[in-house]
Amino acid sequence: MNAKTNTQAKTSTRKPLAVITGAGSGIGAATARTLSELGHPLLLLGRRADRIEALGLPDTLARSVDVTDEQAVAAAVHEAEALYGPVDLIVNNAGVMLLGAVAHQPTGEWERMFDVNVRGLLNGVRAVLPGMIERAHGTVINVSSVAGRKSYPGHTVYSGTKFAVHGMSDSLREEVAGHGVRVITIAPGAVETELLSHTTDVTIKADYQAFKDSIQVLDPQDVADAITFAYQRPQRVTLRELVIAATAQAA
Ligand code: NDP
Repeated sequence: MNAKTNTQAKTSTRKPLAVITGAGSGIGAATARTLSELGHPLLLLGRRADRIEALGLPDTLARSVDVTDEQAVAAAVHEAEALYGPVDLIVNNAGVMLLGAVAHQPTGEWERMFDVNVRGLLNGVRAVLPGMIERAHGTVINVSSVAGRKSYPGHTVYSGTKFAVHGMSDSLREEVAGHGVRVITIAPGAVETELLSHTTDVTIKADYQAFKDSIQVLDPQDVADAITFAYQRPQRVTLRELVIAATAQAA
């Protein structure tokens, strides 16, 4: 085999590009490490680029992008595709959980959650979907929550955003099923990450922390493994929804 053919063979067997939003911490970082170990080139997005760069992963483009900025998300995807080829997977993972009681919660927190968890997720979908439809191949994995399936005290607005993720994912699946594109929803229970740290209601935050301390919650790697498992099924198989929680989490 001459050098040219060898290069072509290598190119054709290279794993496709995966995009992960909110990749600098928690579930996103664990998923980035896992997909990188499997040989995927990556586009990793989040506002704190230093956290993403600190992962030190090969074949990775790290961009400081706020997922609520539709054009910035699209531009980063464009840049990564020019380097690594078409996106085959997006993990829309970026999210904020600002728990609070509706009667008292600052309305800015409602806006932030809907902006990031709903509109930001849609921006990720929009940036990759036309290409996936054209190629009749691709996977969209949306990270929701068990709070996207049932209610919990103090979770009203967060829960609303995550019910929206479930609803939009189901509807999107109907839009793209005929185009060979998969849509998968991952709904984790409590995971040991930074997510709770942004909640400003001290009572709700303390109660939730006490709950987390009372059981062994999931590790981000547990969710990364579920995401990877779902992605690795043959393209003709869609694991539509995966609900994963610590065995000790009753509700
Ligand atoms: P983290 O707080 O560790 O991760 C959230 C990530 O989202 C951060 O890396 C953050 O990066 C990023 N992010 C937040 N806002 C934006 C934004 N505007 N633009 C771009 N990136 C943003 O928590 P988790 O890993 O737990 O959260 C990941 C997902 O899992 C979320 O969607 C969350 O709702 C969901 N989830 C988590 C559970 C848990 O118990 N931890 C349970 C169920 C679901 P940066 O600040 O640098 O932008």
